[in-house]
Amino acid sequence: MIYLDHLASTPLDPQVLEAMLPWMRIDAAGNPHAAHPAGWRAADAIDQARAEVAALVGAQPGEIVFTSGATEANALALLGGVPAGRGCVVSAVEHASILGCLPELRRRGHPVAVLPVDGSGLVDPAVLDSALAGLPEPSLVSVMAANNEVGTVQPLAELAAAAARHGATMHSDAVQALGTRTLDMAALGLHGLSLSGHKLYGPMGIGALIVRPPFRPVPASTGGGQQRGLRAGTLPTPLCVGLGAACRLARTRREEDARRIGALRDRLWQRLHQRLPGIRRNGAADRLAGCLNVTIPGIDAADLLLDLPELVVATGSACHSGDGEPSHVLLALGLSAADAHASLRFGLGRGTTVAEVDEAADRLVTMLGSANPGE
Ligand code: PMP
Repeated sequence: MIYLDHLASTPLDPQVLEAMLPWMRIDAAGNPHAAHPAGWRAADAIDQARAEVAALVGAQPGEIVFTSGATEANALALLGGVPAGRGCVVSAVEHASILGCLPELRRRGHPVAVLPVDGSGLVDPAVLDSALAGLPEPSLVSVMAANNEVGTVQPLAELAAAAARHGATMHSDAVQALGTRTLDMAALGLHGLSLSGHKLYGPMGIGALIVRPPFRPVPASTGGGQQRGLRAGTLPTPLCVGLGAACRLARTRREEDARRIGALRDRLWQRLHQRLPGIRRNGAADRLAGCLNVTIPGIDAADLLLDLPELVVATGSACHSGDGEPSHVLLALGLSAADAHASLRFGLGRGTTVAEVDEAADRLVTMLGSANPGE
């Protein structure tokens, strides 16, 4: 199997697993919120994990709110982060976990603006500026750091500056960016940021919302008052420790990973581009190291992949629902529905090798009947 779907989920790094294992054994039992030595030990381990998460994004440990993943983090930011009567602005290429909050925000009477993107998926800060000027009382702007389908990296500092000019809080879904990009909330002017363990070689089932003053969303669940009342519920010590270890690794590896994985992505593109006439690359010049999204006009990507079961890549159909609808991201970039269905997303990662990239390109080209044996 050639696994090129790291944007959907990354494998657990063995070092992360090692860090987690002691906390899954019976002798480590202890509710981290309990007032006894077993509880204090677990709470200490969680505090260290908080510090690692904070260090990755330029925040303070006390600003980390652990959640079950980025979907929950995004819902907390949006559904809890817009005060009554105030407005919210997001981009058209956000993940379903952001866009899915909009009907509820509208139902509650919040004015909502959805920003268009250009043909490469970029949000123009000037477009944000005028959208904010058009809302009576804008309160929250949410634009992702990097897109999960085409890899386009947004100009977050400029977007945050526009939000600040209008007195709005800036949140970013940074799920895809953190593995290969440096992202400092303080330097960028971000008040909220969402991340996810299983996109960072950490465990599934954990993520975080980072909230910096003055951003303080209204909690979705009440109960035990854990995490400063922002997210009730007993913290899962092994998952928190795993997320902390994944963030520590990302901090030490992201530059090297970006260089190596980016070179593999370019190699894959070269090998496809040379041999498949008409193939096009989607996204902006500044794209994620691990993302290559291509359109091969005339193909049915979903059908093609059925014939290549050993090649794990994603199609341009909505990956979140499997309903076969064309991707809202590709449509927002201006692709036709037919071209969206003719699109493939390769997600390269830490474990990807040159041999895998070459083999993936060869298999695809052979399957499409355009193999050039002299190549
Ligand atoms: N945002 C983006 C950009 C994503 O790619 C994903 C995962 N597909 C999510 C949010 C949701 O993350 P999680 O799986 O942790 O809920």
